[in-house]
Amino acid sequence: MSIRRVVPAVVPAVVLALCAGAVTLPAAAEEAAPVDGPRTAGDSLFPRVGNGGYDVRRYDLDLRWTPAEDLARSTLRGTARVAADTTGAALRSFSLDFERGGMRVTSVTVDGEPARYASQDDARRIRHKLVVRPGQPVEGPFTVVVRYAGVPTRHVDEDGSAEGWNVTDDGATFLNQPIGSMTGFPNNNTPKDKARYSIDVDVPRGYEVAANGVLKDRKRHGDRTWWRWVQPRPMASELAMISIGQYDVRRSQVDLGDGRTVPEWSFVDPQVTGDARRETMRQLGRWEEVVNDLEDVLGPYPGVSVGAVVDVVPEDVNYALETQDRSFFPSSIDGNTFVHEATHQWWGNSVSPTDWGQDLYVNEGMATWMPTYLAGRDTEQTWFDAWQRVPAGDERWTVPPGAVTDSADLFGYQAYNRGAQFWEALRLTIGDDDFFTLLRTWQHTFRGGSHGTADLQAMAEDVSGDDLDAFFTDWVRDADKPDWPER
Ligand SMILES: [Zn+2]
Repeated sequence: MSIRRVVPAVVPAVVLALCAGAVTLPAAAEEAAPVDGPRTAGDSLFPRVGNGGYDVRRYDLDLRWTPAEDLARSTLRGTARVAADTTGAALRSFSLDFERGGMRVTSVTVDGEPARYASQDDARRIRHKLVVRPGQPVEGPFTVVVRYAGVPTRHVDEDGSAEGWNVTDDGATFLNQPIGSMTGFPNNNTPKDKARYSIDVDVPRGYEVAANGVLKDRKRHGDRTWWRWVQPRPMASELAMISIGQYDVRRSQVDLGDGRTVPEWSFVDPQVTGDARRETMRQLGRWEEVVNDLEDVLGPYPGVSVGAVVDVVPEDVNYALETQDRSFFPSSIDGNTFVHEATHQWWGNSVSPTDWGQDLYVNEGMATWMPTYLAGRDTEQTWFDAWQRVPAGDERWTVPPGAVTDSADLFGYQAYNRGAQFWEALRLTIGDDDFFTLLRTWQHTFRGGSHGTADLQAMAEDVSGDDLDAFFTDWVRDADKPDWPER
């Protein structure tokens, strides 16, 4: 839930004055002047996504979904209550990311008072801002309430896959990595600003609603049902999920290594049949085994529940995603993907990336490496073979895992396969004891926060006592084939 301070868009007057050397101004008075919050979180890959000047503490979402005969015309009516704190100067304006599609903002209040607002959309530059100007500047804690309604859109990424609010053949699925969450609710769309959530969704009877965290309440009223999901742990908006549809609901209890018991809530599309269904249900029967195995390596399970959504979805949503506490799987679950997404509950969810272009491989690499380790395979042979298979001149080496500059490349070889090779190479370089100490220390120290490459290198050096700068340069920052470590 911490947000990295970014350079304000407006340079404070006091800095200008000091640079000019012309006048001496009372610094305190100048620092107190209200500013416009930066319309960016400073992400290297999505420089116009995310916002600055505040840190969100909590989102309370109240959504009402009503299907149309043509499901693509189904409507959403929403109230997003966003509780935040300013992180520096008072804000005379601030922004939230909100890609409205066919929705319209109907009102905005700040601390209960009507506020001026304007929507700014530039899809080509991936910039969708709801700019809010409160009647009085905000400083310290403040609450903004945005009401909106209409037909939500999905967000199509540069690699052609769809995220955000997607229509399915029996409802809708809201999946948000990396930046789709702004199609469902206005938010500070950066994994650096994590918050707690309540997600209320009101749907016609006969539909189920899956979301993050624990199901706190479910009430029928008239011909509709209201569901309340609560996520009490810090969560990045990219990991928020909602899936509305007709599902078979599976419940169980999972005993954790630290003595806690958490509920399983899984939602399986009845259209998943035959072998796919048998394998899916077999995997869902492994929750306790897989989570306990991961706890042995990584420390306590960081979530408050487990579960999955298995849904038949449009082809361009054909990816599994580690949505917090309740991963999403298109059409079926296989053992490898099940462990991959479970690993992400630690790597990516409890400890999130800070920057899309620089940190994704940390978590995708670990989630790709871990299934080979838990399966008892020879990880050194597995990832050495993967490394050897791709010749030095191959274009797959040209994207450095820690310096992706084109978002079309984001979910590519460098994040998954080279990311897993990176972790194995690090294990060989620092040795098993330090490697597994590093994994647990990372999780224990940074639980609930957002941390990337610089922190990882620093911690790996701290744990091992080695200077790993050359290693990280070769494996993470350089755009060519890294050297496999000598043993
Ligand atoms: Zn992954």
